[in-house]
Amino acid sequence: MLFQLSDEQKLIRDGVREVCKKFPPKYWRDCDRRKTYPEEFVRELTAGGWLAALIPTEYGGSGLGLTEASIILEEINKSGANGAACHAQMYTMGAILRHGTIDQKEKYLPKIAKGTLRLQAFAVTEPTAGTDTTRISTTAEKKGDRYVINGQKIFISRVQHSDLMLILVRTKSYEEVQKKTDGMTLFLVDLREAGDAVHAEPIETMINHETNTVYIQNLDVAAENIIGQENRGFYHILDGINAERILIASEAIGDARWFIDQAVNYSNTRVVFGRPIGQNQGIQFPIAKAYAEVEAADLVRFQAAGLFDTGKPCGREANLAKYLATEASWNSANVTMTTFGGYGMATDFDIERKFRDSRLLLVAPVPNNLILSYLAEHVLRLPRSY
Ligand SMILES: Cc1cc2nc3c(=O)[nH]c(=O)nc-3n(C[C@H](O)[C@H](O)[C@H](O)COP(=O)(O)OP(=O)(O)OC[C@H]3O[C@@H](n4cnc5c(N)ncnc54)[C@H](O)[C@@H]3O)c2cc1C
Repeated sequence: MLFQLSDEQKLIRDGVREVCKKFPPKYWRDCDRRKTYPEEFVRELTAGGWLAALIPTEYGGSGLGLTEASIILEEINKSGANGAACHAQMYTMGAILRHGTIDQKEKYLPKIAKGTLRLQAFAVTEPTAGTDTTRISTTAEKKGDRYVINGQKIFISRVQHSDLMLILVRTKSYEEVQKKTDGMTLFLVDLREAGDAVHAEPIETMINHETNTVYIQNLDVAAENIIGQENRGFYHILDGINAERILIASEAIGDARWFIDQAVNYSNTRVVFGRPIGQNQGIQFPIAKAYAEVEAADLVRFQAAGLFDTGKPCGREANLAKYLATEASWNSANVTMTTFGGYGMATDFDIERKFRDSRLLLVAPVPNNLILSYLAEHVLRLPRSY
């Protein structure tokens, strides 16, 4: 099997590259320094239709596959930018596409594709539940044909830059259900109408990634805002997990390629002891190793995306790709830091910014420990560890 970009895929890559060129490292450095949202970048990407890649053409999107979406996100991160500012639009929209009614799709997808409506926020994580999503305690209580939501979510990103938020809540308590993954429901909340019922409080983090604690108090939502079936929300999320893991892998591959480019250029030009530092095996071997790792991760990513696009099972490949790509990216980040010596720490070189950014992908949206436990249990058939 050959993994080579088709002419159309090369055009996609080049188109995204052109957009990214308008946002050089200085733009990202400034956003990072001021902790501001890269609004201009997101607007430009939306205007070019790149964030609507996965929306079918009948709803105004480009109807492309996950392979193409992964090429788009890789290219963004490879340019030194950070796709996290807008990637959720690609992941999150999938829940409406797969499980929404025709009415919901007609109501939301064309506007999301056009960019007049943003769906950038996805609220799953809670302070006490952590990675054990079955332990979430935000509830939606049925009152006639409406629901009242109460609870607290944590690390919910881009709330201030989104019109809509998908939220996972319990409609049946943990104690009520026979299977702990039952009894959860996915709601689409219109944040513009929520008023004081939704309050987002920014969390300061080491990266420029707007994320929040979200307090929800007596939020009144119509039953028609349920996405998919009541009490089946966990499974609806699960359906999108492979796509999310493949797209995260693509961002990590983009990061790794950016780091390796920086390390190669710097080590070829920085002269110490009368020779380029890249002539030393202590510098060039780690870079070569990082390169080998990212190339291997890239093959698995394309294999996973190809399986996904042809409707074949891809859990094994999607998890392998997420693990391999994020570990390769983190290793390349460390190698590049070492290659740059003291300059790696200097903000103007961008290494420390991307170093911080790339660290996130080891833990969010899913920690690599959980990826390993998937592989151990579902691929290697070892006993379930939790
Ligand atoms: C910047 C940022 C943005 C985020 N954006 C969003 C968002 O938009 N929406 C959203 O819903 N969430 C978001 N998250 C949350 C993110 O998905 C969680 O932080 C992540 O899933 C880990 O959950 P936790 O922090 O509660 O870790 P915990 O569950 O407390 O786990 C802590 C550590 O223990 C490990 N661990 C736990 N249980 C096991 C086990 N059984 N076996 C082995 N290891 C284990 C974990 O792997 C982890 O390393 C974001 C997080 C960050 C930091």
